[in-house]
Amino acid sequence: MKTIYISLLGIILLTACSQPKSKQKEVISSFSSDIKSRKAEPNTPTITVLDTDFSKGRLTLKHKLTLEDLEKFHGHLCDGLVVGFLGIKEGLEILYPDGIIDRTNTRIVSKSSPCLTDVAVYITGGRYQFNSFYVDNSIEHCFYIIQRKDNYKTVKVQMNKGIKPLEINKLGAKAVKGELPACDLDKLKQMEADFSEKLLTSNPKEIFTITEIRDFKWIPVLKNDYIKTDILNKNKSNCNQNS
Ligand SMILES: [Zn+2]
Repeated sequence: MKTIYISLLGIILLTACSQPKSKQKEVISSFSSDIKSRKAEPNTPTITVLDTDFSKGRLTLKHKLTLEDLEKFHGHLCDGLVVGFLGIKEGLEILYPDGIIDRTNTRIVSKSSPCLTDVAVYITGGRYQFNSFYVDNSIEHCFYIIQRKDNYKTVKVQMNKGIKPLEINKLGAKAVKGELPACDLDKLKQMEADFSEKLLTSNPKEIFTITEIRDFKWIPVLKNDYIKTDILNKNKSNCNQNS
């Protein structure tokens, strides 16, 4: 498979999300966080979405979306993109058991990571101006909350504890502060690529927990001062330049 390019920092992985006082229903899928690395070929996950077929069209057009599509939209392929893609796929499969995601009927709340937010808007079609997307870092025990507009069924998407190597977050935090030396930046890139590969060769049901939320309150927040952490090191020197 294609080497996963790294980027970083975006993902200060969410220790989880959900509205503070929302009642949570059953845990739909929860599995051991002990993921054994498998030497299998990486999965090539896809998500099928349903859209209208022209500017005033009917809901008849299907598209199959891949990580490569997302890479072009986001700018690079990174572990955050893989986490978002696999996690949103798990959540959407609960909302749309037939496997076809109605982009005209879906809205989403995301944590502020530049990678996760790009996955959220690209895959669901949610946009703030149409009241179908907003960012909220106060959601707890998850990184996404996804809702169907027709029946208000709502799920939160959480990555299980122990899945992401702590070292990635540690180095990532230093990089965000501009304190990670050039050679360590390369090391972090490789660590994220390895993590992405691990995710793509694992069973997503062992990586994520999807939980239904009852009585979720959709409260759009408009905020534009989040830090775009994946561009902070864009002028960093190369490792061999020793700076
Ligand atoms: Zn990214």
